[in-house]
Amino acid sequence: MNKAIDFASIFLLFTLFPHQFIVRVSSSSSPIHPNQGYADERILKPEQEHVHEVHCSRERSRAARKVIEEYLTPFLEQENYQLSSKCRLHPENDMFRDQEEHKICLGFHDWKCGYCKKSFRDEKFLDQHFDNRHSNLLNLSDGKCLADLCGALHCDAVMNRKFSRSKCNPAAATRNKHLCESLAESCFPVSDGPSASRLHEIFLHQFCEAHTCSGKQKPFSRGGKVQKSIFVVVSGALILVLLPLFYLFLYLVQRDMKSSTQELRRISKMGRKSKPS
Ligand SMILES: [Zn+2]
Repeated sequence: MNKAIDFASIFLLFTLFPHQFIVRVSSSSSPIHPNQGYADERILKPEQEHVHEVHCSRERSRAARKVIEEYLTPFLEQENYQLSSKCRLHPENDMFRDQEEHKICLGFHDWKCGYCKKSFRDEKFLDQHFDNRHSNLLNLSDGKCLADLCGALHCDAVMNRKFSRSKCNPAAATRNKHLCESLAESCFPVSDGPSASRLHEIFLHQFCEAHTCSGKQKPFSRGGKVQKSIFVVVSGALILVLLPLFYLFLYLVQRDMKSSTQELRRISKMGRKSKPS
């Protein structure tokens, strides 16, 4: 009889509080291991709870970095100029730089995390992985968000090739021009010498002058890496075509000179022979 009562009470408890039983069983029998597969949602949830709040766009920071590399770095290299760490364009002032340098691209659909060697089929999944797993490595101190400089650096022109000037907002253009000029001032102080002065001037032409709604000035008016490489290819092709033509011209001139000297010799010989008679 007692056994029957015990059994009935256990059954009653089980039917009234099934949730508690299931949770206890699942948590004790399968502990969540940090190195389990990524497809498992159970490990993604606690991971997301620890995500640092980052108020800086990774995508726009990447666009800003691309603009700097394509349209400013060639001029810095030309002048052999080192940016000061106070300059916000300095690579150290980009919070995503270290993570971007830890991206391993093995193919169009083959990306690898340089920190933990996990593979991903798309760059955006690797970006998400950095956000979820390695956000603790980000330097979140002030002034490290490169995306904040996008207005001055014309990131939209690089991110969206169909960028339309009809959307131009005069107030935003003025604000961006001020930001642009302050960058020129802090990164290339005229008092630092002739190289800094030249780069200051180039920076104003390249980035700041286009911050107007008149549409007359285009950004990157001084060109960049892409245009330079095209110039190198075109001039190389021209040299390849013109060099053989130049040697052909030289050969023809020399041949003409040779035949004319031979002709002169022949005439002078004939003259000497005809003299005694
Ligand atoms: Zn990783």
